[in-house]
Amino acid sequence: MNYAAKEIAQITNSRIVGNGEVKIRNIAFDSRTIYSTKNTAFLAISTKKNSGQKYIDNAIEKGITTIITEHQIDNTSVTQIITENSVEFLQTLAKYHFEHSDINSIGITGSNGKTILKEWLYQCLSNEFVTVKSPKSFNSQIGLPLSLLQIDKKHELGIFEVGISKPGEMDKQEDVFHPRIGLLTHIGSAHAANFQSEEQLIDEKLKLFKHSEVVFYNGDNLLTGNQINKLYSSKKLISYGLSDINDIRIISDISDRKQDIRIKYFDEEFSLPIYQRDEATLTNALALIGILKELMFSNDQIKEKIDALRAVEMRLESIEGVRNNLIINDSYNLDLDSLKIAFQFIAEYNKPKKSLILTDFIDSSHNAKELYTEVADLVNEQKFDKIFLIGDNISAFQDLFDAETITFTTTDQFIESNAVDILENQIILLKGARKFEVEKIKELLELRKHDTVLEINLNAILHNINFHKSLLKPETKMMAMVKANAYGLGSYEISEFLQLHHIDYLGVAFADEGVELRKKGITTPIIVMNPEQHSYDSIIEYKLEPEIYSIRVLELFNEQLIRSGNQQKYPIHIKLETGMHRLGFKDFELDELIDQLNTMNVKVQSIFSHLSSADMPEEKDYTMQQLHVYDKNSSYLISKLGYKPIRHILNSSGITNYTDYQYDMVRIGIGMIGENPDRHIKAQLQNSVSFKTVISQISEVKAGESVGYSRRYKPDHNVKIATIPVGYADGIPRSIGNMVGKVGIDDQLCPIVGSICMDMMMIDVNNTHAKEGDPVNVFNEKPTLEEFAKYCNTIVYEVLTSISPRVKRIYIKN
Ligand SMILES: *Cc1c(COP(=O)(O)O)cnc(C)c1O
Repeated sequence: MNYAAKEIAQITNSRIVGNGEVKIRNIAFDSRTIYSTKNTAFLAISTKKNSGQKYIDNAIEKGITTIITEHQIDNTSVTQIITENSVEFLQTLAKYHFEHSDINSIGITGSNGKTILKEWLYQCLSNEFVTVKSPKSFNSQIGLPLSLLQIDKKHELGIFEVGISKPGEMDKQEDVFHPRIGLLTHIGSAHAANFQSEEQLIDEKLKLFKHSEVVFYNGDNLLTGNQINKLYSSKKLISYGLSDINDIRIISDISDRKQDIRIKYFDEEFSLPIYQRDEATLTNALALIGILKELMFSNDQIKEKIDALRAVEMRLESIEGVRNNLIINDSYNLDLDSLKIAFQFIAEYNKPKKSLILTDFIDSSHNAKELYTEVADLVNEQKFDKIFLIGDNISAFQDLFDAETITFTTTDQFIESNAVDILENQIILLKGARKFEVEKIKELLELRKHDTVLEINLNAILHNINFHKSLLKPETKMMAMVKANAYGLGSYEISEFLQLHHIDYLGVAFADEGVELRKKGITTPIIVMNPEQHSYDSIIEYKLEPEIYSIRVLELFNEQLIRSGNQQKYPIHIKLETGMHRLGFKDFELDELIDQLNTMNVKVQSIFSHLSSADMPEEKDYTMQQLHVYDKNSSYLISKLGYKPIRHILNSSGITNYTDYQYDMVRIGIGMIGENPDRHIKAQLQNSVSFKTVISQISEVKAGESVGYSRRYKPDHNVKIATIPVGYADGIPRSIGNMVGKVGIDDQLCPIVGSICMDMMMIDVNNTHAKEGDPVNVFNEKPTLEEFAKYCNTIVYEVLTSISPRVKRIYIKN
């Protein structure tokens, strides 16, 4: 887009304060991820959960000179567009912008597969049409309008995802964006929580296609077929899917891997080479074929495009590097959009120095000068200290870059130059087109070169938090339990991420854990569940908030408070004993507690308790009794205190099983990692942890020979054995050796044979195509963490907290 502020005000019926002539080309709504301030307006979005108003100062500090706000601020140096409702503002502007562009449009909605299909369509179509698409999975009431505002004069095609989470939202989305071609992907239970029935969910999604000319839908879901034919009988409707009733389907045997897939498209038949044959991939491929056919591509062209598809993984890894560097790696693809996303990503970190390693763009739609000028402008705004350019095309434009810039022809040349040896204490963004293989540079910079990693997907954690939030009232606060190194995942990294996403409280077990978080810059309130006597001074020094569970602890803490010269009312949290019999005040101690509190310089920030069996439906009576005791005793305390502390009792399974007892706050733990004992709930959560390694060596062991210490495994036939570099020192219990546990190799579960060694173990890979260097899943999807815990005869909590610190944690963010 490209409008003067005054035009925007006119379109959206808002008011201008200051200079209305300034040009606006981008809207930023998250002050933390502002990566460019040129022609950018900051929109302070106010939602039920959060007000963007408080971030305006931060945006102005970063150099923003135009703000869009619901409340005029006292600052004459910026242009202000004053609107009544920030979300409606965005929608109105996007609607105008979309309706005044003349692009062909594809709108994608559904529960699963939206992002994959959008990326695939983009890969197939962006060479033929100048195409714009939603960044990442920007598909919400805010994400969709922001995506639409990216449309420029040059664009011929737009591919946008549309998401909803509640009934009533799709009408608004459709009012803003009415795609010519509609695509309804698989309908699952992902957002079913706010809908009464699947039917209601389908009807809501279908509203997107009110003005579409043609709609593709997954016809495997009969309900979808019925509803769409009832509603839109006058439109061109095309169904795709694996069952026989669909217009586009598969007629060959998909399990016969030697054969191409045979497609039936109405009356026509043709073959395509598709190697990945799980249901989701095949169904998505059928949708893609339908749309390519609709856009008049020949079968040969379709074959070529499908052949060239790459996996959609588009992700940024952040990895601890040597010399205290932090490496942000995205060597998957390189275009302007993904570069902007990477800049947003690094804007969130505050390391004092930063360097960029950037390769040629493989882009045919731009002329080189124009492209690299735009790239250099963007790069210059990020104020890198050093820039390394790899590739002759980009190097030709070296002079456009402000920072100290060094050029190379190839990645190998860069590596040989040892240029990276001078980088320390900084953030290094590694951004390369695939063919440059910049992952070689990543390997060079990585701290511990272990093949064994615990990979933590922060997006999945956010998804899981949001899922739990969607069950709660908007005003209910959330504490995240990050005790025991955040269940083994890394307490600083997880806390920093959660702080960024406005978690209300963090919970640690011991003061040391809280001190470490504070030292690294975490400012969110932190409650210490088990404040040991010797740690009261550091609790006070680092503004941690103790759990007080007995009169003895209260008195000792108060003495330390007095010694520390503390002046203000110090926040503490009162733990009530309601049936867990671990820590807490019992009924008969409450009066003494009140008397004591009233004489002390403390403020009861919260009153809480803990359920012993929220995950066990068979213990419902006991849980209800605990809830009853909690309600009674906390009410009694509050009546005597004369003010209202926060009340909380639910842990993760409490949130899902006893939602009505959320009070003012809940405490999430294992739920954010993606576990829940209830299968139905678990299906809506995302797996966030994978324990991975690679095969070190493969040996042929003959019948009668033996494997490992004490010759515990003696095969009676010749077998292929893989040795993998994890053992009991990494946290794999020795008890799951000798055929008890399994790991995933070549998409199969393979038994651990022989005794597990300290740093290694051996796996029977006889029935696989495994090769040396191949990946091994200790757990992620196959086996799952839950299955792995079963092998170990324990619970997932213990598995996670037992993984040794020497296993490198890496964090993934999309
Ligand atoms: C660990 C803990 C939680 C979180 O429990 P999950 O079962 O992981 O959700 C909640 N409250 C307290 C007091 C805890 O110690």
